[in-house]
Amino acid sequence: MEKGNSMITLPELMKEVNTYIHQPESLALIEKAYRYAEQKHATQFRRSGEPYMVHAAQVGYILATMKVGPKTICAGLLHDVLEDCGISPEEMTAEFDEEITRLVEGVTKIGHLQFKDEKEYLAANHRKIFIAMAKDIRVIVIKLVDRLHNMRTLQYMPPQKQQKIAAETLQVYAPIAHRLGISEIKNELEDRSFYYLNREEYYEIAHLVEEKKAQRDEQVRHMIHDISQMLTANHLEFRIFGRSKHLYSIYKKMKTKGKRFEEILDLLAIRIVTKTELNCYEILGYIHAAYRPIPGRLKDYIAMPKSNMYQSLHTTIVGDEGRIFEIQIRTEEMDSIAEKGIAAHWRYKEGTKYDPRREQREIEQKLSWFRDLSALTGDLSDDPNEYMDTLTRDIFEANVYVMTPKGRVIELPNGSTPIDFAYRVHTEVGHSTVGALVNETLVPLNTPLKTGDVVQIRTSKQSPGPSEDWLKFVKTNHAKNKIRGFLQKKEVEKKQSYVEKGEQILRDELRKRGYNEKEYQDHKKFDNLLSQFQVSTYVDLMYAIAVKSISVISVIEKLTNQKKPIILDNETVGRTYVPRKTSSKSGILVHGISSMMISLAGCCNPIPGDRIVGYVSRGSGVKVHRADCPNISEEKDRLIEVEWDEHREPRKYEAIVMIHSHDRNFLLTDLVTVISQCRATMQKINSTVNQEDLIVTTRMTLLVDNLEHLNLILANLRKVSHVVSVERVIQ
Ligand code: MN
Repeated sequence: MEKGNSMITLPELMKEVNTYIHQPESLALIEKAYRYAEQKHATQFRRSGEPYMVHAAQVGYILATMKVGPKTICAGLLHDVLEDCGISPEEMTAEFDEEITRLVEGVTKIGHLQFKDEKEYLAANHRKIFIAMAKDIRVIVIKLVDRLHNMRTLQYMPPQKQQKIAAETLQVYAPIAHRLGISEIKNELEDRSFYYLNREEYYEIAHLVEEKKAQRDEQVRHMIHDISQMLTANHLEFRIFGRSKHLYSIYKKMKTKGKRFEEILDLLAIRIVTKTELNCYEILGYIHAAYRPIPGRLKDYIAMPKSNMYQSLHTTIVGDEGRIFEIQIRTEEMDSIAEKGIAAHWRYKEGTKYDPRREQREIEQKLSWFRDLSALTGDLSDDPNEYMDTLTRDIFEANVYVMTPKGRVIELPNGSTPIDFAYRVHTEVGHSTVGALVNETLVPLNTPLKTGDVVQIRTSKQSPGPSEDWLKFVKTNHAKNKIRGFLQKKEVEKKQSYVEKGEQILRDELRKRGYNEKEYQDHKKFDNLLSQFQVSTYVDLMYAIAVKSISVISVIEKLTNQKKPIILDNETVGRTYVPRKTSSKSGILVHGISSMMISLAGCCNPIPGDRIVGYVSRGSGVKVHRADCPNISEEKDRLIEVEWDEHREPRKYEAIVMIHSHDRNFLLTDLVTVISQCRATMQKINSTVNQEDLIVTTRMTLLVDNLEHLNLILANLRKVSHVVSVERVIQ
């Protein structure tokens, strides 16, 4: 386990690079990246005591052995420079280019992901997140190589860290390497993790393998000799060699299939690599003619490639003395893909322009692993392009993966906002949110988040809590429920404070009138009153007193059985002129009445400028109607004179408008535009189309200043094309 600790010098790196890269600019760029990394890491040392550059150079070197492009090698050499040397992305872009900087940033970013949960489904999720965050497959390859080298030097870490890193490697990194078909890296990551996680069994299996090695090698050598003679006689070109299973795969087979070590190792494995696909089938034919194949063991992965692009013919035959051999037959190209997977696929070819998008699309189409994700969508379509589109939409666009500043990944549905994020972190964080930073920039709270965003929530103890408005843009039900819960609780608390206020008003008024307030503390004394005031509980009654929808005086009269005719009857109205006028928040003056509750009628919604009349209701003060309101046209006895207070405080009044029009495109848009041009506020809008005559009925609730303002709005609405009629509504 000491492999890979030595310093790769620049000439050593360039020697490897020179095997497939020859363009002077590319070579110069790699040399520059090496020197730059060397200079920036100059004062840093790894735990092993070696210069930090050992790690950077090794990552660049391993990438070169995988024959990746020059920029990927550069990014590999520079992969820790942004984070560890205080170099900014801008500096790196100025020194190299944007593409290299983006790759390094990608590696840095996914390096911040925390994979601490050990549950299998979470691990699977983390792999998905990892891929989604990386965006460019080259970033994943660099990260895998980075991890590979870290695993090679893990012995310098404290034991606890070794365990954590090894577990994470086995659960997240090795499966990704497998998905990408990079079995060389996958096997090494698995064996090294196995060593740290389960040293006892690791040594046990290693020992067993070693013990049988000589005997097995001899059996394989014998078989190779026989097959070679046969194929050479038939003028075929080929390479043939025995191969060994890596330790972790033996261990896994023993565990999952419940097999004994001997059963697994009984299989002797041989690989034949040849020129063409046709050669593969020819060789298979000769072998099956000479040896008895075991039925059901022939697998044609050439005609049906595996999901990670793997291609090969597999067969199992019975050799001399009844020994069983597993034989793989494939071309050089297939062999390379089997070992290097995706990396073999985009092995760097000089002179061709690298287009990461096109390349990635090709890779995604080849890697049916992406297709495996369809199990999650349940949506299968025959057209591969349409299929990929749906898949990308459902998997990668249905969710966004964002991070806390500490690197914790949070998965949210697409369109989620910082508020959704805040509630996912913690309910209290959500309730006290006052601002949000996305990638260190202050943003509005309704900003949709994107995968890879780093989100930081600003909270304050002084925060008034979630507002009704948040419900309009939050995406997750979780956040919606928490916000609604908060608002409801607040409503209840508010009501409670009103109830106390109502009780206070009642006590004060009782005292003022010379009653002993203590006699009326028992809630039961109010029971008979409730139905008279059309409320169902004592609490409701106190609330009504507090908000003045029921007058405290009428309550006291009923409570004390003392009828004082304070409510005006018909005779008083008009005859007894009392020059004193009273105004209320409604902006209405009532002749001759003091301390009476005045409110605007909800049926006709009078607004300043309307002719109005007061209606003295039983127990809930004066209701002000429009003079022409049909709801009071039969009333004579209870009407009193009222007028608009010229000195009222400015406020907005509600007006309901009904519009009939023919249907057309953008009708609502035009109507809404008129409202905003007239500087009115729209509270509600509701539109329905009659399917028979296609007449659209639109009902709006507006907030206006006065009648003049409303008339202006109505006139402008009538001018909108296709509009038939515009009316103010009385309910
Ligand atoms: Mn590193």
